[in-house]
Amino acid sequence: MMYQTNMLVFASETSCDETSICLMEDNKIIEHVIFSQEIHYNHGGVVPELASRSHLEKLQEITNKMFKKPNINPKKIDVFASTCGPGLIGSLLVGSTFTKSLSIGFNKPFFPVNHLEGHLLSTSFNNPIVYPHLVLLLTGGHTQMYLMHDENKVELLGESVDDAIGEAFDKTAKLIGLGYPGGAQIEELAKYGDENYFKLPKPLLNDPTFNFSFSGIKTHVNLLTKKSTIDDNFRKNISSSFQKTITEIIISKIEKVLKFLNNKNISLKSTSIVGGVANNYYIRRNLENLFEKKNIELYYPIKEMMSDNAAMIAWACIKNFTNKNADIFFKPDPRLKITL
Ligand code: ZN
Repeated sequence: MMYQTNMLVFASETSCDETSICLMEDNKIIEHVIFSQEIHYNHGGVVPELASRSHLEKLQEITNKMFKKPNINPKKIDVFASTCGPGLIGSLLVGSTFTKSLSIGFNKPFFPVNHLEGHLLSTSFNNPIVYPHLVLLLTGGHTQMYLMHDENKVELLGESVDDAIGEAFDKTAKLIGLGYPGGAQIEELAKYGDENYFKLPKPLLNDPTFNFSFSGIKTHVNLLTKKSTIDDNFRKNISSSFQKTITEIIISKIEKVLKFLNNKNISLKSTSIVGGVANNYYIRRNLENLFEKKNIELYYPIKEMMSDNAAMIAWACIKNFTNKNADIFFKPDPRLKITL
């Protein structure tokens, strides 16, 4: 595991609706705060303007609190890092400007971090990764598969062409009257339903690419809600059938990737599932079975690095920061591409 030692990093993450800060020294989390903004719940989705305002308020509050702790001396921080994209531009601006100000105030370098690189590297915090390594990034904002040839050479194999997987869960939940965010409720209800009750479409299943598409499933669920009485049984069966269909799509795409790599004589050594949807036990169990059958090691990040968090941003900084790539003038970019 390669990382820099004797480095104390302060990192912030504000790309969507989590306000998070972390203080990390080498590979040790000293302090980590994640505040999930509940202000969006009444609106059925994240409202960008509300998110920015909430970040501004919360960032100051939690940082002041952290810096006042008796075990913390902010003057000892070596580098200040923050998420600079991809994400909501207003939220990225709040987090990066706040963190840049700290770096100027304490006269220390500022390091911009790509949010997706944070997710990709999160598993290496607690696992010795062997390459080539396949990463499944499953979140509310992204659904992507990456092949990491090594730590610095990453290739995007496929991604969702419409809704992200977490988004598909939340939108389906909303359609059957579960409120927002409802992804976790779908998982709970699915335990009691019949997963073969509804036959849902599997878009792009036979497509030659490794891309995903989930929005057609949501449209189909919408049609079913119009034709049926939405009661508890309906909710349970829909949840079950939806979760099963989504999982089957992912598995089929992974199998396609494995075949493709085999044909190219690339023998995959390990894989990881990162992002908030990695918390879904049904998906986990099914993927664990698949990789066990294929004899491929499967890793997860630590729990607090799964959903959006500043610890993975601090870790990406500890792994990649050099005096040459410090950049106080870096402009946040809502569509920032990964450069690993
Ligand atoms: Zn994320």
